Amino acid sequence: MGFTNIYGVPHWNDAEGGGRHSTTIIDGKAIAARVRAEVTRDVAAFTARTGRRPGLATVLVGEDPASAIYVGGKQKASREVGIEPYDHRLPADAPSSEVEALIERLNAEENVSGILCQLPVPAHLDGVHLTGLIDAGKDVDGLTPLSAGLLALGREGLRPCTPAGVMVLLEEAGVDLQGAEAVVVGRSNLFGKPMAQLLLAANATVTTAHSRTRDLPAVCRRADVLIVAVGRDRMVRADSVKPGAVVIDVGMNRSDDGLHGDVDFEAVKDVASAITPVPGGVGPMTIAMLLRNTLQAAEMAHSEVPA
Ligand code: NAP
Repeated sequence: MGFTNIYGVPHWNDAEGGGRHSTTIIDGKAIAARVRAEVTRDVAAFTARTGRRPGLATVLVGEDPASAIYVGGKQKASREVGIEPYDHRLPADAPSSEVEALIERLNAEENVSGILCQLPVPAHLDGVHLTGLIDAGKDVDGLTPLSAGLLALGREGLRPCTPAGVMVLLEEAGVDLQGAEAVVVGRSNLFGKPMAQLLLAANATVTTAHSRTRDLPAVCRRADVLIVAVGRDRMVRADSVKPGAVVIDVGMNRSDDGLHGDVDFEAVKDVASAITPVPGGVGPMTIAMLLRNTLQAAEMAHSEVPA
């Protein structure tokens, strides 16, 4: 697997048999900081050109503490790059009609470039239905049926933040995806499915694995690029990884001994040619891509306004 070591820290391995090779630890924090710096610059240029600031509206239903922290982080990050955050909160028992009315109102508001409905929503609400109401031009999470369809058809549109962030990590690490065997473990609408589509669009040969996949380790061992988003603490062991593969760990599993990915980083780093750590790999990219999507949505809306 060819890659250059632009945004990674080399880690030297003493491979069995005496050979020594280095593994790139892909530095998602540094890459995300660069994306944010670019967005800050481009938001300032957009604002100077149009007299408007891009706006990001967040919709949070209920008081789930983790969701409140995520939304707060997105608002803070918006402010830092010059995007105006609009914070909308509804009680946990808000009827669907109230959330629908709010989303419809935000669809029509000129100051709002992007809308994000924080998932999961309380059990009496249908998250797919609600996110589907967001205007495709404001769908900065890239999760509406129209955005998913545009991605599947290879048309321009807003892409889901985490898989789009993984594509940036692969590009920055210099990974050549043309014809590469890529395996995505996990098939969620949020990550696995759009990730597979993005890899396919980049001309990789893509396999999507899931909980019913037979002999998962053998499937993983085929991968030049292995991307894991399952939500099981350090599930992927070194013997599931082809020597020299690039490994991207999307998992975020919190336990008493800290935050871990879905990949056994300590063991796999001695086998892979490049790997993302957890924390500091994929995680920081998600908000960076949300900010980039919000600017893209503002640019798209502005280009549609008659001069
Ligand atoms: P999800 O909706 O729960 O999907 C998990 C997927 O993993 C499903 O497709 C499931 O298969 C598959 N799976 C479960 N157990 C498996 C097993 N033993 N072997 C193979 N596949 C298995 O989760 P998600 O939303 O995609 O998130 C996955 C992980 O990524 C979580 O840890 C989440 O926190 C993390 N994540 C991180 C970010 C970030 O910003 N860094 C963003 C999104 C997600 P089935 O479809 O057959 O059930």
